[in-house]
Amino acid sequence: MSLAESPPLPAANPRPVRNDWTRDEVRALFRLPFPELVYEAARLHRLHFDPTEVQISTLLSIKTGGCPEDCAYCPQSAKYDTGVTAEKLMDLGAVLAEARAAKSGGASRFCMGAAWRSPKDRDVENVCAMVEGVKALGLETCATLGMLTADQARRLKRSGLDYYNHNLDTSPEFYGAIITTRTYQDRLDTLDHVRSAGINVCCGGIVGMGEGAEDRVGMIATLASLPVHPESVPINMLVRVEGTPLAGARTLDPLEFVRTIAVARICMPKSVVRLSAGREDMSEETQALCFLAGANSIFYGPKLLTTPNPERDRDMRLLDKLGLRAMQR
Ligand code: SF4
Repeated sequence: MSLAESPPLPAANPRPVRNDWTRDEVRALFRLPFPELVYEAARLHRLHFDPTEVQISTLLSIKTGGCPEDCAYCPQSAKYDTGVTAEKLMDLGAVLAEARAAKSGGASRFCMGAAWRSPKDRDVENVCAMVEGVKALGLETCATLGMLTADQARRLKRSGLDYYNHNLDTSPEFYGAIITTRTYQDRLDTLDHVRSAGINVCCGGIVGMGEGAEDRVGMIATLASLPVHPESVPINMLVRVEGTPLAGARTLDPLEFVRTIAVARICMPKSVVRLSAGREDMSEETQALCFLAGANSIFYGPKLLTTPNPERDRDMRLLDKLGLRAMQR
């Protein structure tokens, strides 16, 4: 179907939150004329959120590198020679010092990432101590530690963990071209354990990995068909890192990235949609279009795990220019 043949927008209404999105419906959204798509996303955004507010999260790598998984985009995989050195889990005091700095920089949520396939129970105990310490500073907490068992998810919940990040990354069909060491179902199982434990879910994906338009449709359709939509939906633009299999991936048209944000906003209207990795190379104009299309969260700070992120001052200038402000908890 060409753009000229795209279906008209449905009548203006709040659209009930749905978990039964079909691929045909999601594909039709992607194919809307750009102004219609962005208008609809912006309309829904302001029905559920203040469109001038942006939730700000800071992400710290608490255990870097040496991961046995083979995610083709990831510089922390031990399978690729990317110059990232494997480190041990940070100690509690160092993590809390970073959390204090994040809070004074305006973050409301502190995310802790560890490059594990799945944590051992003693690792979970160490992370629980971090969660308790970070929460005591008045910050929301998020962790991304790899696959979890149901017991580990419950233990993290007892420590007070607010969010757990575990991305689906891409469509079920394209997934095997990106990761072979764990299955799509493994990911869905971890999401189920996290949800069942009562922890908020942070789950999204990455675009620009060489996937086709239909894979972006499949990724959003899968996210929007989870039994409960993730509370946070990070949409990442691939950061091409030398040494990873995706170092030479073709650049995705930035307008296609904006479309992905807009479709995520329409299909998951009450979720916080995070403009996540890849902002370092994104123009201010593209980022502004993403905010217009319903993105309402960013990662803030000079590094995203091991890849660069815009400096804080640059972000603050952009938010100021756009008249946006940090969402309070
Ligand atoms: S994305 Fe996570 S699981 Fe995959 S290689 Fe990197 S650290 Fe490991």
